[in-house]
Amino acid sequence: MTKKLILFVLLLFSFSNAVEIKVQVLGSGGPLTYKRASTSYLIWIDGKSKILVDLGSGSLLRFNEVNRNIEDIEIVLLTHFHTDHTVDFSEFVKSLYFYDAKKKITVIAPDGNEYFPDFKQFTDALFGEEGAYRYLSSTFKQNINPIQTSSKIGKVKEFQFKNYKIYSLGVNHGIVPALAYKIVIGNKIISFSGDTSARTNNLIDFVKNSDIFVAHMAINQNSNIYAKRLHMTPYRIGEIAKKANVKLLVLSHRMKRTIGHEEENLKEIRKNYKGKIILAEDKDFYILK
Ligand SMILES: [Zn+2]
Repeated sequence: MTKKLILFVLLLFSFSNAVEIKVQVLGSGGPLTYKRASTSYLIWIDGKSKILVDLGSGSLLRFNEVNRNIEDIEIVLLTHFHTDHTVDFSEFVKSLYFYDAKKKITVIAPDGNEYFPDFKQFTDALFGEEGAYRYLSSTFKQNINPIQTSSKIGKVKEFQFKNYKIYSLGVNHGIVPALAYKIVIGNKIISFSGDTSARTNNLIDFVKNSDIFVAHMAINQNSNIYAKRLHMTPYRIGEIAKKANVKLLVLSHRMKRTIGHEEENLKEIRKNYKGKIILAEDKDFYILK
């Protein structure tokens, strides 16, 4: 083979392996939000919507606005069992009644503690024999492969799928068992803080060198101590983004108490992080090639 031909074959090979990744915000809001769905994100791989992260209120509506191929979903990642992250999970399961599943959808979610149910208790309360939505019991069983993972602070778990890896990290969110997630597709890293105060430094290592880091800016710098036990301050978000060397910082979970405070909060973030920042809007998307 001539040198030119070898180069051509190599190029062809690399193009055939090139994956287009699109990260789309379905819900950029939270509780007491206006014109925004609550927390939810969608990851597209080569034009197909494969991974959902959280299913807050309105996220299914947004999903149907951007795509109707629920058949393409392979994975759902739930960060924790607060309503603003999970109420549309029931609606999602209901949607599966209308699709002819050839494969089960894997749903990863945290374990519990004395204040919150674990994933099994959560789904039993909804879709079990005695559950509130017991009429969906067989739909749930036929279509969902539930995986419960540890929410112990700092604990990292790895899940290998055909074309990507998913990692969960137990994070601090007051008394709530909660997870951050990271999705690695080829050499691209997309990470989600979920709701966390990020009191410990585990999140910095976890989101290191992310191409996109979706961080929940649910409080202002001067919010009260109770809110700070649950959520990261803008200053802390900037510190994490800088130390982790993230390429794009997306600020989400926008709600009544933070709307209108963006400028002051961005100033706090900028004290540390000098990279690119985007304030999330529903249906916005970011493409990684
Ligand atoms: Zn939340």
